[in-house]
Amino acid sequence: MSSDEPSIFTRIINREIPAQIVFEDDRLIAITDINPQAPVHLLVIPKTQQYRDVGELAEADPELLSQMVRVARSLAQDHADGEFRLVFNSGAGAGQTVFHVHAHVLAGDLQESALV
Ligand code: 5GP
Repeated sequence: MSSDEPSIFTRIINREIPAQIVFEDDRLIAITDINPQAPVHLLVIPKTQQYRDVGELAEADPELLSQMVRVARSLAQDHADGEFRLVFNSGAGAGQTVFHVHAHVLAGDLQESALV
């Protein structure tokens, strides 16, 4: 489980830090990544920070994970041509830097290097 300290994404959800919000409902928020690695680079984030990574989320709440995928698909249709790459970094060794589960939605003329 994550620490009690609010993650950077929780602080965005709470409007303590500004972000470009492209989607929000009762359980999820989506924002543009501050350091884009593709023409379209969005983050889909559960509002709860109780899951560190996609494995924990899949174990505990597969419906919420499914909602993340559906929102990612919808955003790729709205912001690009509907084709997209969905990346979940899991663990520091895999490049995860924020331990509040999130999906990277990469779209629009992707290069092989756009693996975040
Ligand atoms: P990770 O490396 O954990 O898979 O992904 C974290 C992502 O969050 C990175 O792509 C990074 O650019 C993004 N990020 C970190 N801090 C902020 C922020 O304050 N605002 C936004 N919009 N994105 C952030």
